[in-house]
Amino acid sequence: MTTIIANWKMNGSHSTTEALLEGLSPVLRAAPSGCEVVLCPPFTLLDSVGRHLRGTKVWVGAQNCHQAREGAYTGEISPYMLAESGVTHVLIGHSERREYAGEDDALIAQKLQASHKAGLKTVLCVGETLAEREAGQVHAVVERQLKAVNATHFASYVAYEPVWAIGTGKTPTEIDIASMHQHIKSQTGGIIPVLYGGSVKAENASTILAIPAVAGALVGGASLDIDSFSQILHAAYQINNA
Ligand code: PEP
Repeated sequence: MTTIIANWKMNGSHSTTEALLEGLSPVLRAAPSGCEVVLCPPFTLLDSVGRHLRGTKVWVGAQNCHQAREGAYTGEISPYMLAESGVTHVLIGHSERREYAGEDDALIAQKLQASHKAGLKTVLCVGETLAEREAGQVHAVVERQLKAVNATHFASYVAYEPVWAIGTGKTPTEIDIASMHQHIKSQTGGIIPVLYGGSVKAENASTILAIPAVAGALVGGASLDIDSFSQILHAAYQINNA
């Protein structure tokens, strides 16, 4: 199984989404059964994207959720609300949430557990900053991020996303990706699919997806471009057929 998850971040209006989904329609409808495709739009577009995707095998995911089931948490959305709205997947612990929303391991652990309990497929994002990489702490950081949230029990997927590779056009070497993915697998019992994220684009998708232990990709910027995302999906479909 190859999994491709699109993270639209805080992008998209109803009209741009309509155009994007129209343009992607042929490739989304061609998804083979061994390939799982998930689109994660902002909350405001979950419903319309879900309606648009009806009749396809493409799933809808959210980019975040609150850890409580319900209550006095103004402005928040619970994993149960997401599940009730037809959302199947949720990103947890994305580095932009760790950085801009101050999410720490303790909070991410709560969100991961709550989402798992609500029946969502959880995508736990982990990865080191450039400073941590330069300090030789890559393995230690990722191990801490996995252990602190009990990933082995509550993560449906782990997305390895080196922070310095997100939105920068930079990627680790193939050897580095292979060794980190192996390491994450060994830390999580070998059964959780490990996706790679960080500047995946049309030009590098085939190479990255062919790396052993890479079970798919989490795609940010390139998932908003019809041509780029179509090519990434075609690369995934081919790997899957190989
Ligand atoms: C992401 O947002 O998870 C991501 C990987 O972004 P990009 O593909 O733009 O680097």
